[in-house]
Amino acid sequence: MLRPAPIQDHYDVVIVGGGPAGTTCGHLLAKKGWSVLVVEKAEHPRFQIGESLLPFSTRVWDELGVWDQLEASPYARKYGAWFDFQEGDAPEDFCFGGDNPGRGDWAWNVERPWLDQMLWNAAVAAGANGIQNTEASFVVDGEGAQATVSGVDLALPDGTSKRVLARLTIDAAGRGSLLGARLQIRRPDPRLNMMAMYAHFTGARVIEGDTGGFIGIIAIADGWGWVIPFADGAISVGIVVRNTAFAERVKGSTPEDVFSAYLAQTPAMLNRMGPDVSRTTQVRTTGNYSFRCDTPVGNGWALAGDAGAFIDPVFSSGVHLAMEGSRRLVQDVDKALRQEASGLVPAHRMARYAAANVRALKVFSRFIYDWYDDEFRLAFMRPPPKSRLVQLVKRHMLRILAGDVYQPWRVLPWMWALEMMAKMNAAGVRRLNGGVLPPPGHAPLVVPGRPAPPPKLGADPG
Ligand SMILES: Cc1cc2nc3c(=O)[nH]c(=O)nc-3n(C[C@H](O)[C@H](O)[C@H](O)COP(=O)(O)OP(=O)(O)OC[C@H]3O[C@@H](n4cnc5c(N)ncnc54)[C@H](O)[C@@H]3O)c2cc1C
Repeated sequence: MLRPAPIQDHYDVVIVGGGPAGTTCGHLLAKKGWSVLVVEKAEHPRFQIGESLLPFSTRVWDELGVWDQLEASPYARKYGAWFDFQEGDAPEDFCFGGDNPGRGDWAWNVERPWLDQMLWNAAVAAGANGIQNTEASFVVDGEGAQATVSGVDLALPDGTSKRVLARLTIDAAGRGSLLGARLQIRRPDPRLNMMAMYAHFTGARVIEGDTGGFIGIIAIADGWGWVIPFADGAISVGIVVRNTAFAERVKGSTPEDVFSAYLAQTPAMLNRMGPDVSRTTQVRTTGNYSFRCDTPVGNGWALAGDAGAFIDPVFSSGVHLAMEGSRRLVQDVDKALRQEASGLVPAHRMARYAAANVRALKVFSRFIYDWYDDEFRLAFMRPPPKSRLVQLVKRHMLRILAGDVYQPWRVLPWMWALEMMAKMNAAGVRRLNGGVLPPPGHAPLVVPGRPAPPPKLGADPG
């Protein structure tokens, strides 16, 4: 949808990118009375990955007034998640609201063309000026984090170009991190060299009740996989593996074949999908996506959502960080625009946002690094069932899974406790399994306090 008003030469804020981060910034700033232009290169509805949302986004959904639209959508409520190893013989459930979930204890699994179109429409209805099919590039003066940004150059759909100036320019253009790359402040995360393959299917097993919308996260030897049920048997399925493992497997093959081969080796995913699935989209791939920028703010500029950092898809943190982070950015920007009568918004006026951003990334990245550790996976997915301490720790880990990451002091001590328990648990497992920690996904595995798994049907007894 193109807002009919002609593009002005100057706005209070220009936002590059009309995904969850850009539309949240545009919407909330427009609501506060600022003149805003949101520029989108594509046209909604457009495909995007990132379909499983987190309950702690409820606050920003309420501020945007979109909770009712989510609730009225056909998409499955997500009350929690299950985690398992490849074989799929003992899923471990994590339910955000326990037995009695209330508002704020669930999110949704949505198809992103629907979500992003809805957010775009809501931003425009709130007074943001939105233009699609238009690519923006930044007007930068200087280098590095000290550079100033005074607006954008637009490549308009009619083939002409236009310069638009603003007191603040926000890069919300996603993982490409346009401004971060231009300023040379974008750093790849050397600990995470992963890539993802994914597709949508129809005809998946429909599970009635509150667990029907649980997402599944399945640990496999080279990484992990996801199953995200939307509704009525539509499901998103993805496999995330090390770049090197993919490069090795794809030689003389296609990404589609590699995806199918990983799926075929993963009963936990196949069982959830059921026997009647058929693929409705191409198999898409994306890789080398883990990075962060040195700082998310500078003079006249800010980075919102993926443009500032992207860690890893595993705990579905992306849309939450994009939207909740943008809500926090807008609080700083609103104040700054009022306090500084004219001129560019200086970096120090957005310090609260920058600090909150660092805190949230710290929590999620620590949890994600842990996730790729075999000892941690084991403790997380095969906890001794009767330990009260483990159940307590698990309840606190649930807060992170739900997106409560802006106050690390509330959750990090529990994560440290789980890390310690993982070490102790792994020592016990090694003792019972001949001194080795069997590679993940290769049950049977004897775990302290859990009954020994039954022998596999058809397994060679010798
Ligand atoms: C494999 C994978 C799985 C994921 N799964 C999940 C999940 O389950 N849950 C979750 O929450 N997150 C998930 N994510 C993360 C999620 O995709 C992102 O965090 C989220 O989309 C970030 O929103 P954003 O608004 O910052 O960026 P985007 O959604 O990428 O939006 C950026 C927009 O900017 C536009 N744009 C780009 N360049 C320009 C330009 N020059 N001018 C104008 N516009 C431009 C793009 O067209 C796009 O519309 C996943 C990511 C990956 C890689």
